[in-house]
Amino acid sequence: MQTPATNARSMAAYAEFVAEDRLTRMRSRAAALEDRRVAHVNSTAAGGGVVELLRSLVPLLNDLGVPTDWLVMDADGPFFDVTKAIHNGLQGDDAPFTDEMWRTYRDVNERNADAMDEYDVVVLHDPQPLGMVEGLRERFPEATLVWRCHIDLTDANPAVLDALEPYVERIDHAVFSREQYGRGVEGVPKTVIHPAIDPLTDKNRELDPADVDAVRGELPTVLFDPEVPVVTQVSRFDPWKDPIGVLRTHRRVTESVLDAHLVLAGGMADDDPEGQAVYDRVVAAAEADAGVTLLTDLSDVAVNVLQREASVVLQKSLREGFALTVSEALWKRTPVVGSNVGGIPLQVADGECGFLVEPEDIETAADRVRTLLTDDERRTEMGENGRERVRERFLLPRLAHDYLDLLAEATGVTDAAADD
Ligand code: UDP
Repeated sequence: MQTPATNARSMAAYAEFVAEDRLTRMRSRAAALEDRRVAHVNSTAAGGGVVELLRSLVPLLNDLGVPTDWLVMDADGPFFDVTKAIHNGLQGDDAPFTDEMWRTYRDVNERNADAMDEYDVVVLHDPQPLGMVEGLRERFPEATLVWRCHIDLTDANPAVLDALEPYVERIDHAVFSREQYGRGVEGVPKTVIHPAIDPLTDKNRELDPADVDAVRGELPTVLFDPEVPVVTQVSRFDPWKDPIGVLRTHRRVTESVLDAHLVLAGGMADDDPEGQAVYDRVVAAAEADAGVTLLTDLSDVAVNVLQREASVVLQKSLREGFALTVSEALWKRTPVVGSNVGGIPLQVADGECGFLVEPEDIETAADRVRTLLTDDERRTEMGENGRERVRERFLLPRLAHDYLDLLAEATGVTDAAADD
């Protein structure tokens, strides 16, 4: 297994983002957990929201005194084809599975479980490493095994959920991003933890003009043209993020009135084999569109500038886990027009920091974008509201606090703060 690089993080640097009483409680919890070794396991070191979270959460928990490692599975293309199919199945897709696919899933997970050292707590992120539970249970019967599922299981294909059942029933604790996501998972203690963004990363920190100059070459010049409003969606090229729907929305926005520009920016996560094919489809679909730019592999500072300079951020997902991109945009005071799915409605208060629309409703999405682009005052006000909403609910110290509580609960550790 690999141990990816993380950001250097110290709790002291977050003083302006965390209230004193919360900090005291976190330190007390962390002190009680100081002899528990914790591992977070996922399947990629690059791309997607889980990586974004672990890169900051893991070093912060270490700084707080909880010995925490981040391990990435050793896996290859055939495994990722299977796990993307599992991911799609858990989001409602009904493509069939073969025995061979499940064998691949089992074998790779077994190998990774065999390669692991002993930990007191192992947090398995998403379905990819869930299969490790079998081997880990055998080798380390005392370990506490947590499944951190970032996916919305509300409409999961029952056949896929059934196939994962033997693993799920052997975990000690499950964590979901919303209560309703885990309703189909029975017989296991469940906790809800909302993800969060790190305000100190290159992606989210405040920028000075030199930062912007350094990434100008990565971004289209129209982004800096005050005459042309830019709308953007920053998402992996994945059908569930509906990039084609974003193009259709843009067409509606521009056919009536506005000279707006659309930037679709997307990375390819290492564990997402569909990325290239979806990207190619979007390129073909956008060929006849004026005012559309597709970007891949932007640096984090460039994503920061894009989310900051855009007038509106779209998140037109058909299904969604949480969508960190929404909090990222709101934190930069950019209002979001997002689908009413997954974690998007947790972040976007409709009419306050953006608008919620039904996922297939292109007409209303376009209408909401137009409203924001033509009403400067409202856009500014919503931007401010978004900033405050993220400050209160979706920043890293709150997430670290939730994890400390989870670790204490899952391992039965108590401390002076336990009864607060
Ligand atoms: N991201 C990025 N570059 C891209 C596309 C996405 O850095 O071209 C980042 C994005 O800023 C966010 C993460 O990848 O931090 C995606 O997380 P999210 O929860 O929105 O979606 P996921 O990919 O996990 O479904």
